Amino acid sequence: MVIPYDRLSRRHGALRNITPDTHELLFVESESMLRSRVWHPQRLHLVLSAAAHLREEFVSEGFTVHHRDAATTSIGITQFAVESPNTSLIATTPTSHVVHAQWAAAGVQLVDDDHFLTSRSDFATWAASQRGTRMDVFYRWQRRRLNVLMDGDTPVGGQWSLDAENRLPPPKGNHDWPEPLHHTRDEIDDEVWATISSAGLNLQGQAPDGTWATTRAGALRQLQYFLDSSFADFGPYEDAMPKGTWTVNHSLLSPYLNLGLLDPAEVVQAAVARFEEGGIPLSSAEGFIRQIIGWREYVNGVYWTFPQEYRNENQLNATRELPPALTQPGSTQMACVGEAVIDIDKRGWLHHIPRLMVLANLALLTGIRPDAFLGWMRRMFVDAADWVMVPNVIGMGVHADGGAMMTKPYAAGGAYLSRMGSSCKGCRYNPKLRTGADACPFTTLYWDFLDRHRAEFGSNPRMAQQVRGLDRLSDLDGVRERARQVLGQLDRGEL
Ligand code: SF4
Repeated sequence: MVIPYDRLSRRHGALRNITPDTHELLFVESESMLRSRVWHPQRLHLVLSAAAHLREEFVSEGFTVHHRDAATTSIGITQFAVESPNTSLIATTPTSHVVHAQWAAAGVQLVDDDHFLTSRSDFATWAASQRGTRMDVFYRWQRRRLNVLMDGDTPVGGQWSLDAENRLPPPKGNHDWPEPLHHTRDEIDDEVWATISSAGLNLQGQAPDGTWATTRAGALRQLQYFLDSSFADFGPYEDAMPKGTWTVNHSLLSPYLNLGLLDPAEVVQAAVARFEEGGIPLSSAEGFIRQIIGWREYVNGVYWTFPQEYRNENQLNATRELPPALTQPGSTQMACVGEAVIDIDKRGWLHHIPRLMVLANLALLTGIRPDAFLGWMRRMFVDAADWVMVPNVIGMGVHADGGAMMTKPYAAGGAYLSRMGSSCKGCRYNPKLRTGADACPFTTLYWDFLDRHRAEFGSNPRMAQQVRGLDRLSDLDGVRERARQVLGQLDRGEL
């Protein structure tokens, strides 16, 4: 039995129902995986320590556990197969196209990945029955199929999505946000960190500080903490980016779900049970459950339904390299970007709105190469599985797929960021200005983006009104000139 490092659930896939009498286990640590890329220390620590905890669990139950260091995982698997010729190699299907192909080529028998609520074949069948792969249609299908928050054939409360209620800006004045839960490191965590920090790896970001649990017990504690402290208020401020809190009311469960330390089914069951006990507004319950049974499953389905080459899409012909504003924490005067990049450095996580409307919006408006931006997002986030990041970045974030996934680009100027965040008040730039030295780069670049892509978006029914707005600008030449300055400053690290 070969263990993929992001499929660490005892309750699913190839690990379901195994015993020390029936199976031996093989963990392969790949030199190439460790050394060929930059890692956020907290991401690497989480993955390796969670795997080390599982290995320890197997050993204490009496399993024979093999641990190999090899140039690549495929080489380690092949070497083991040669040394143990009468052994059949079995694993849960890997979660990325590349690893899937490599393990299949290495002769590993792959068992369906049932960590998700929707199998790859079920999603493909659903997608084939549709004229497009629309998330809202998929979500309704999921609600009915899984019978979650349903009252017969209609949604509880009468509406499928309460998103319109979940877009409040940050509250004015003081507000009590839940303190993030601290996860105390154990001996295995310390050993893994000692190995990582002394291995001469290319690390970028701050060391593990107890933000992330590395065990299923810790992940379950985080689930319980979310239900007790944040679930009720989750919905209204789901999209807000207030000062003084980095968690807002978000669950912080994505790293655990993506590694297999938590199951989506148990998270949904716990959320529904808590909602049915009372005291949780439907908007919070529906908003949270939509993320788990809707968006998360949809993104995985899209990843496996679209061709592997989807990750290389670049239909807006974006050619800019990653700017220092993203790669050097603290180097930009754009307060919203600077704070987001510092937060990533600290803990490898941001909630979905700073990811989408600050970072991806910056990449979209400035024309950063989609593959470079995707690679950076993959390196810097603790929950950055390939299947998560490819559709979220290529399709939703930078619209590099020409609309195959989302019908419009998520482009926004300073007005949106000023309304939904609290960074503008302390920023050197003014979100209301689109020209002049004090103009907010997002505001300038939003109009410049529409101007540059008028041909692509002018006939898009969801974008036409925004594009027509260009005709009302009396200072479009000034916007173009300011955009040229802004993009030059961005490239030189002066913005
Ligand atoms: Fe960001 Fe513009 Fe606001 Fe500054 S003014 S924080 S750059 S949106």
